Amino acid sequence: MEIQSNFSLKNYNTFGIEAKARQFVAVHTVAELKTILEENKNEQKFILGGGSNMLLTQDIDALVIHIDLKGKKIIKEDDDFVWVESQAGETWHDFVLWTIDNNFGGLENMSLIPGNVGTTPVQNIGAYGTEIKDTFVSCEAMNITSQEMKTFTNAECKFGYRESIFKNEVKDQYIITAVIYKLTKRNHKINISYGDITAELAKNNITFPTLKDVSNAVIAIRQSKLPDPKELGNSGSFFKNPIVLKSDFEKIHQKFPEMKYYEVSETEVKVPAGWLIEQAGFKGKRFGDAGVHKNQALVLVNYGNATGQEILAVSKEVQKTVFDTFGIQIEAEVNVI
Ligand SMILES: Cc1cc2nc3c(=O)[nH]c(=O)nc-3n(C[C@H](O)[C@H](O)[C@H](O)COP(=O)(O)OP(=O)(O)OC[C@H]3O[C@@H](n4cnc5c(N)ncnc54)[C@H](O)[C@@H]3O)c2cc1C
Repeated sequence: MEIQSNFSLKNYNTFGIEAKARQFVAVHTVAELKTILEENKNEQKFILGGGSNMLLTQDIDALVIHIDLKGKKIIKEDDDFVWVESQAGETWHDFVLWTIDNNFGGLENMSLIPGNVGTTPVQNIGAYGTEIKDTFVSCEAMNITSQEMKTFTNAECKFGYRESIFKNEVKDQYIITAVIYKLTKRNHKINISYGDITAELAKNNITFPTLKDVSNAVIAIRQSKLPDPKELGNSGSFFKNPIVLKSDFEKIHQKFPEMKYYEVSETEVKVPAGWLIEQAGFKGKRFGDAGVHKNQALVLVNYGNATGQEILAVSKEVQKTVFDTFGIQIEAEVNVI
């Protein structure tokens, strides 16, 4: 465990932004993590997983702790369910594939989401009609100041749409070290109602899909729609889909009857941010090396040497134009550092 100074984070963030960490260390065990925290009590700390949900707009004047704890195991099972624990530094997609190879159901719709297992509760990741909160049992986390371990149950995490306690009440106070998920062993709840999964399965003549079939369909759809960060720097959806009060939405909808929306509660609707951005004229627009992806307006991209500030400027321009056009505020999903 070696602390390095003036360390480039270019290969540690999927936007591929050049930014330096004043100090950087990768930790591989909980014991190492405890030691690093104890020995650097007075340092500012910054926690880094896979770097797939952050826009670095400046160098990080802190000790960057890269969570690289590995390992996964079954901790309990009955006839119907299995409880699986994964260490925080496991790559999420590899973990999902491992669950599918073992015929454990529940995570297949979230195949190919970049990042690490330990970060999945932070923003309650989700895709194709499933969120982490649906299978999450609890996580273990270390208090950054006291190094005490605490278990957070599903209810304690206060999951919401791309939200949890880790982005709010206990932000920057805990490092998640392991996560437990409860998955099905049989009677899997295959969910193919969302997006293009049904069409993708039909294309391959699959009528009774297995977990693997669903995962393969999700992977194929994602690969056709989203840029691969290894080829084009990005952080997935840059913005959240805004949730608007129905009373406000009705007025907006009168002006823009073609606006798409989904009901989320009796009083609220969700509007696809990608649609708003596209209508505001940003899809495929490029500003130097920063831009809005040509196929997916929700995704901001780095064509090569964009700085974090340049991408941030594009995001602000998008937010302003969407607000000026539709009166709807869109918020960043990505953590702007
Ligand atoms: C191409 C692409 C597609 C994507 N698609 C989706 C999608 O479909 N759905 C979705 O929800 N997200 C999606 N994302 C966003 C991203 O993959 C997820 O948010 C992912 O969970 C981030 O994990 P990470 O380890 O890379 O987090 P990082 O970017 O490293 O960190 C994100 C935040 O969590 C904190 N953090 C990191 N590790 C820990 C830890 N162990 N304990 C406490 N805090 C920690 C960091 O300090 C930071 O604030 C996509 C991203 C890309 C690039």
